[in-house]
Amino acid sequence: MPTIENGSGTRELAGKRALVTGGSRGIGAAVVRQLLDAGAEVLTTARSATATTPEGASFVEADVRTRAGAEALAGAAKEVLGGVDILVHNAGGAGPYESAAAIPDEVWQDALDLNFLASVRLDSLLAPGMRERRSGAIVHISSAAVLTPMGPFLHYTAAKAALENYSRGLASELAPSGVRVNVVSPGRTATPGGIATREEWARLGAVPGEVSADDTAPLGRDGEADDIANAVLFLISERAGWLTGRNLIVDGGEFPMN
Ligand code: NDP
Repeated sequence: MPTIENGSGTRELAGKRALVTGGSRGIGAAVVRQLLDAGAEVLTTARSATATTPEGASFVEADVRTRAGAEALAGAAKEVLGGVDILVHNAGGAGPYESAAAIPDEVWQDALDLNFLASVRLDSLLAPGMRERRSGAIVHISSAAVLTPMGPFLHYTAAKAALENYSRGLASELAPSGVRVNVVSPGRTATPGGIATREEWARLGAVPGEVSADDTAPLGRDGEADDIANAVLFLISERAGWLTGRNLIVDGGEFPMN
C-alpha cells in the first residue's frame, strides 16, 4: 500500500496514538499494519499474542469481554501511549448453531459482551479524553450479516445490530466536540476467524432458502483483511473529516446501496 502523506511531507497519521482490539490476526492485524505504515503509534490486544501480531506495535494481553478487561486495556493505553486519538474496536465473532432456539443463554451473553458491550465499555473509558481534547476518531467493526439475520447467527447479528444503533447515538453525542464515530461492516472476508466460522456453518448444513456458507460476492472473490482495513483507515483519517455516524459496508457488492 502506498504511503499517504499529509501534504507537508509527513505520514498521514504521524503523531497519532491508536488502540486496536483483536490485532493478533485477520482484519485487526491488517488495521494495525496500515496504521503503522501511516505513521501512527499503535497498541493492540488479544487474549494471547500470535506469530501474526504485527511487529512495531505494542501488545498487551486482555480479554475485552469484561469490564475488568476493558479497564486493564484503557490503563495500558494511558501507560504505553499516554492517551488515545484513534480507537478501532475490531475484536468480535461467534460460532453458528443449528437454530435460534439451540443458542444457549451463556452463548447469547458471550456474543453480547464481545460484539457489543466491549465497545460500550471501552468507549466509556476512552471517549471522555477525546472529548476533552476535542478530537478523536472511533471505528467499530460490525458485519454485513446484520442485513440478513438468520437462525444460526442470531446471537451474533443481534449483538452487531445493537452496536450499530449505539454507534449512531454515540456519533450524535460526540459530534459537537469534534469526535467522530463510524462503523465498518465487512462482508465475507478471508481471515482465520471468518474461514473457521464458515467451515463450521457448512458442517451444520446451510439453512434452506438462505445465503449459504459458500456463496461468492458479485465482485467474484472473498474480501481480504486489507480490503476492510482500507475502509477503516479512510474513516479515521482527515479525508473523512466530515463523516460521522456512518456505516460503511465493505462486501464486494453483496448488498448494493445499503
Ligand atoms: P479473527 O477471529 O480472525 O480475529 C479476531 C481477533 O480478535 C483475534 O486477534 C482474537 O485474538 C481477538 N479476540 C477474540 N476474542 C477476544 C477477546 N475476548 N478479547 C480480546 N481479543 C479477542 O476475526 P476477523 O478478523 O475475521 O474478524 C474481525 C472483526 O470483523 C470481528 O468483529 C468480526 O465479527 C468482523 N467480521 C468478520 C467477517 C469475516 O468474514 N471475517 C465478516 C463480518 C464481520 P484471541 O482469539 O487470541 O483473543
